[in-house]
Amino acid sequence: MTRTTSQLIADRTRLMGPNVSTFYDEPVHFVKGEGVWLWDADGRKYLDCYNNVPHVGHCNPRVVDAICRQASTLNTHTRYLHDGILDYIERLTGTMDASLDTAILTCTGSEANDIALRMAEAVTGKRGIIATDATYHGNTSLVSQLSKSNVPTVGFGLGQYFRFVDAPDSYRRPDPDGTGFAAKVAAQIDSLEQDGTGFAALVVCPYFLNEGFPDNPDGWLKPVADAVRKAGGMLICDEVQSGFGRTGTHLWAHEKMGVVPDIMVLGKPMANGHPVGGVVANRDIVKAFRSGYRYFNTFGGNPVSCAAAMAVLEEIETQNLVANANTVGDHARSRLTALAAKHEVIGDVRGSGLIFGAELVTDRTTKAPASDLTDRIINEMRHRGIIHSKLGRHKNTLKIRPPMPFSIENADLLFDTLDDVLTKANK
Ligand code: PMP
Repeated sequence: MTRTTSQLIADRTRLMGPNVSTFYDEPVHFVKGEGVWLWDADGRKYLDCYNNVPHVGHCNPRVVDAICRQASTLNTHTRYLHDGILDYIERLTGTMDASLDTAILTCTGSEANDIALRMAEAVTGKRGIIATDATYHGNTSLVSQLSKSNVPTVGFGLGQYFRFVDAPDSYRRPDPDGTGFAAKVAAQIDSLEQDGTGFAALVVCPYFLNEGFPDNPDGWLKPVADAVRKAGGMLICDEVQSGFGRTGTHLWAHEKMGVVPDIMVLGKPMANGHPVGGVVANRDIVKAFRSGYRYFNTFGGNPVSCAAAMAVLEEIETQNLVANANTVGDHARSRLTALAAKHEVIGDVRGSGLIFGAELVTDRTTKAPASDLTDRIINEMRHRGIIHSKLGRHKNTLKIRPPMPFSIENADLLFDTLDDVLTKANK
């Protein structure tokens, strides 16, 4: 059945229920993807500057081939023996610090974070968790408690275990060495210890992508990691968005931020759209988690998922995609900085590798967020065939996070178009 756009929208509500989100005033109906390009149902071509899940490019041939080959050979679960999951975990953990040597594979980042929180409880015997007040780590009953900005309607009485600290904001509240953030976390640790809950873990995305990717210098997480360890807690790095080379300088953003997490969470780009997530930790932590019961997940780590995930790692390596993210990211930021000299509305330019963007303000002195304008710009860019989004506490930060094969020419098309859209928006 082929539906028109309005039929698609109506049928989504009828068949999927209310509040199923879409992007844009006029939602897009994509029917095809290739590399950094997408096509809609009318055959119109768009440059994808937003989607991090097709990490090595939409319909990447190596990944498609790996999925097809394994799907036409065997797909079962992990209670049968198979080389695929072992080969993959060995290769994945081989890219990390030696302490991160054991993994559990899941189907989503939410499940992986859920396991990470339970691992922290298993090791510390405590339940208090600290996160930032502008983040998102997933949607299980436990993990959704971490999203202060999108509080779940059902809390299962779990709220008492969660504490929040201000998300770092290099533009409005500079904290150049991370000691301010560490002090806020230390205060919450004390509060958890004093009220009898006890402190189990701090969960952060090392590059704070959901918070608006503040311009934190390399090594910024060291003070907070020290505070966490001093209190006997665990550092959980949620690398669902920041991992697999996104920031350009390192494969893992925690390396950039100068720390080694106790527990690391992976997802989104891990298998280029095939649903794969994972938790990586030291084998003692995994042993503590598995000691009470045998964790099993029907689909996690199946041979097809592992073939897809392995192909992503191979593609990152053979195509030098981390170096590409670095080079193209530098070019993108210099183009954005040049646009800032021309357009007063650009208050701050930030990013690293292929996560970059700008905060739009109505006044550079007061830094008042230009949230409505940001929304208009995003919608206008979509009509010009450029796909990206916005984020941050005030929803006024352009969020640009393209597939990793994004090129200098792609970046130029993006910024030439943005220049034109900003010029016309200010007339
Ligand atoms: N962690 C982070 C940092 C995320 O951004 C997201 C999803 N946006 C998740 C976890 C949840 O992943 P999933 O949607 O696969 O459950």
